[in-house]
Amino acid sequence: MNTQDITSIKQLLSTKKKIVIVSHKNPDGDAIGSTLGLYHYLLKGNHDVHVLVPNDFPTFLKWIPGNGMILKHDSQTKKCNALIEAADIIFTLDFNAFHRAGSMETILAKSHALKIMIDHHQAPDNYATYMFSDVSMSSTCEMVYHFIDMLGDTHLIDINISTCLYVGIMTDTGSFRFLSTTSKTHQIIAQLIEKGAKNTEIHNNVYDTNSYERLQLLGCALSNLKVIPESRTAYITLSQEELFKYDYKKGDTEGVVNYALSLKNTILAAIFIEDKQEGIIKISLRSKGNFSVNELSRAHFGGGGHTNAAGGKSDLSLEATVAKFISILPSYNKALNDE
Ligand code: 5GP
Ligand code: MN
Repeated sequence: MNTQDITSIKQLLSTKKKIVIVSHKNPDGDAIGSTLGLYHYLLKGNHDVHVLVPNDFPTFLKWIPGNGMILKHDSQTKKCNALIEAADIIFTLDFNAFHRAGSMETILAKSHALKIMIDHHQAPDNYATYMFSDVSMSSTCEMVYHFIDMLGDTHLIDINISTCLYVGIMTDTGSFRFLSTTSKTHQIIAQLIEKGAKNTEIHNNVYDTNSYERLQLLGCALSNLKVIPESRTAYITLSQEELFKYDYKKGDTEGVVNYALSLKNTILAAIFIEDKQEGIIKISLRSKGNFSVNELSRAHFGGGGHTNAAGGKSDLSLEATVAKFISILPSYNKALNDE
């Protein structure tokens, strides 16, 4: 996004517009934080703004300022489609290919609205009029801060905007510890705290509101942990039956894969979660250093993401998916052991 783009966007936003902000399927902290952060900012410009997501988001995010205004395409399809069709501008946040927007894929692809992408994933599709795409960024929330800054409006950042943006930077950086966390990330976090974000409260709301069942599910996941030392790999499985047993709720498995990665000497970690309703195994992959789970997922599991965090899926059974994963590991042994 160059100076010319910023001038054009400033001009565009100088008069009231119908704006829709969308994010990806199974929205996470960065998706919800960035869309709502931008929502509160655009409301200050007196625009008509709506946030749309493909499906529901985890309970541990249902306190973020404005979360009750979010429309879900799977249960509010007509309303969402009408807003997309009437929109002057559509912001697409924290994803870069329409297929990541689940049930909204077709209507987004058909829309003639001007599109602005703000995203930090690899290999962006070419649908946006204005594209702010940067894989070096910790999070889309950090990019929304930069976006507001480029428009010369950081003085407009209030407690709502700062709280939303803090959430996504915190969740996407594993609480400021992943490689993508820079001194600039910390400087922005400092700004957000100065502008009202209550850091301790935010960490509590997201991380310390576990149900008893969720902790029991974590216990189950940890007892399913398997290690493949020659590939410096650890993986976890959760069957649908186990999820039912511990009263699984959306978001309950978030972050569980990081326990596998925390095992000493582990470079690659995976979690395989059975979803009988969708008929798939959802896969989350994490890595350390230069080993790219984005490439592994694109090559074998129809997914993608970042170098150190990616997702994917499989149509095979849980057992067959794990067997496939184990069978491809030897081809990565050299890369994994060189790390
Ligand atoms: P998670 O494992 O937490 O679901 O996702 C890790 C990262 O990979 C996130 O940035 C997410 O947006 C991305 N991701 C997750 N699933 C998919 C997928 O199926 N396709 C692509 N392209 N990216 C994914
Ligand atoms: Mn993100």
